[in-house]
Amino acid sequence: EEEEKSAKVTASKLVPYSALTDCFEEIDKTTKRTLISSLLTTFLLKVALNPGRDGGDLLRVVYLCINRLCPDYMGIELGIGETLIIKAVAQCTGRSVQQIKNDLRTVGDLGLVAQQSRGKQKTLFKTAPLTVPFVFKCLTDIAKATGNATLHALLPQSQAKKVGIIQKLLTPCTGSETKFIVRSLEGKLRIGLAEKTLVTALAHAIVLKEVGSKKLPEGKLAEKLAKGADAVKAVYSELPNYDLIVPALLKGGIEGLKEACKLTPGVPLKPMLAKPTKAIGEVLDRFEGKEFTCEYKYDGERAQIHMLEDGQIVVFSRNSENMSSKYPDLLESIPRCVSKDVKTFVIDAEAVAYDIKEQKLLPFQQLTTRKRKDVRTEDITVRVHIFAFDLLYLNGESLLQKELVERRRLLQQSFRPMQGEFGFAKSSDGSSSEQIAEFLDESIKDGCEGLMVKRLTSDDSTYEPSRRSINWLKLKKDYLAGVGDSCDLVVVGGYYGKGKRTNTYGAFLLACYDADAEQFQTACKIGTGFSDQMLVELYNLLSPLELASGKRSDVQADMSKPPDVWFEPKVVFEVLTADLTLSPIYMAGQGLVDERGISLRFPRFIKIREDKDADDATTSEQASLTSAYIFRIAEFYEAQALAS
Ligand code: ATP
Repeated sequence: EEEEKSAKVTASKLVPYSALTDCFEEIDKTTKRTLISSLLTTFLLKVALNPGRDGGDLLRVVYLCINRLCPDYMGIELGIGETLIIKAVAQCTGRSVQQIKNDLRTVGDLGLVAQQSRGKQKTLFKTAPLTVPFVFKCLTDIAKATGNATLHALLPQSQAKKVGIIQKLLTPCTGSETKFIVRSLEGKLRIGLAEKTLVTALAHAIVLKEVGSKKLPEGKLAEKLAKGADAVKAVYSELPNYDLIVPALLKGGIEGLKEACKLTPGVPLKPMLAKPTKAIGEVLDRFEGKEFTCEYKYDGERAQIHMLEDGQIVVFSRNSENMSSKYPDLLESIPRCVSKDVKTFVIDAEAVAYDIKEQKLLPFQQLTTRKRKDVRTEDITVRVHIFAFDLLYLNGESLLQKELVERRRLLQQSFRPMQGEFGFAKSSDGSSSEQIAEFLDESIKDGCEGLMVKRLTSDDSTYEPSRRSINWLKLKKDYLAGVGDSCDLVVVGGYYGKGKRTNTYGAFLLACYDADAEQFQTACKIGTGFSDQMLVELYNLLSPLELASGKRSDVQADMSKPPDVWFEPKVVFEVLTADLTLSPIYMAGQGLVDERGISLRFPRFIKIREDKDADDATTSEQASLTSAYIFRIAEFYEAQALAS
């Protein structure tokens, strides 16, 4: 069978799409990470040896495996509305939209319904089989037809165009190709293939390609594979761009990768994240005898600011989204804060709403009054102050491996603070419990959320992209008050309101996300803390995401009491909980600490996390809180159980 598959790839100059979907089918049959990785490695190796007519098929295959078309930050995404796909499937298979919808209600997976619908059809003409480049091009054309806009706002002519391309894709499909095309269009493959497995498999394939038929002692090969995987992971977290990494791997192998792919202004790197701590004592325990620094933890929005060689300033969000058009004021002011000899840089900073008259920080909510895109300078009512806390790149050189104390020195040397516009995060290097407590109080009085405590010197103070590191601790006032950390959960269901709220949803079903299993797992129902006006706004936001077909198969929920409507998992709520409990009707972390799931008691709505979304959670390695959430919920639960 292996040989047959290999022949499929080699026989054609272009990789057949069916070779990839065969691999997906195999992966779908198992949940074992090592088996998934080795199945994918075998396939990627074949493609690496024959990367198609233009040498680009390995890159296309890599993207198709994670259902993306280009780097995240370029904003071209798959994820087409169900209605449109149903329409295209109906037209392609000669069935009615209603028939498809009925099947969907029972089967629960549009991909499978489409595949079964095709199976019932008699094909008169044999069409040329699908190839990877053709599929990739069609998917890109579809995604580009709307850019970033949601499908619900689509114009009729672009709808027709999309349906046309989907038909072009579906007509030649055989077997499970239909299912995977449809799932790709929906935005999720749902075969349990996490991006970190892909990165490992890609590295392994390249190592095996380099080793070729050479016979290596067993231990040596294992060592090479492990080193290769580490190298590719490290490079990816600095330069999350397969367009650059895959060709570099094909050209120079693992050895050549580090030289060819380095942190580059214009390509956002995955930010370093912090671990929560519950008390000053815990900070001191963790950092005992080591040098550390405390910084204000500003309550704003993370901003990774790049200056490119041509002087252009680009601002990226925590999730690597290009936010430059939200901040025309920063694009104008930042160059004025840069010292003369600085040509290129990447800084890590917090953008905070600021009251210029009173010279004080404003709460995060003020920042959300600003539009997310295409802000005009003349319309700006809320000023933004940048507080820079790290320098990651300067004048052509990556600083990630330098100690924080040195990065901070270079940061302060390269930028000039400007009243009301740009400054450095306020810091204190004192290390006694009293000093920390005093600085924490001060930070709260100044309108911050608490402190970030960071290792200052030694190898433990390097910048670790995408890691939730123990070398960065967050100390929030909420933890100290015993309120616990907030959770960011995905809205998967809605319940209609009662009384005067019947025109909106009155409560929501929330879920955490397990990136490895690609599953949303319910964690609580939330119905308090919403004003009437907020419920109307949430209705407007969520109702276009209602799913005619009911619950998506990647949502794990107790079906004995389903919500009134199911949503496409997209919107993320930040909620606060006083308590976590075990519950048979919720699914979060089931099996991790108990047979029952973990659920949030008395959850209270704080805000919508616009800088986090469910889809990002699936594609980022560890960067997203939601992706790590299930484990963090389990961690929280264990910590709480121990404390009591
Ligand atoms: P997380 O980023 O940990 O997943 P989150 O997005 O909810 O969770 P917080 O728990 O509030 O964020 O803490 C980390 C965030 O704090 C950073 O992403 C950054 O935006 C912000 N921040 C404010 N001040 C600092 C600082 N001095 N150093 C680092 N981060 C800071």
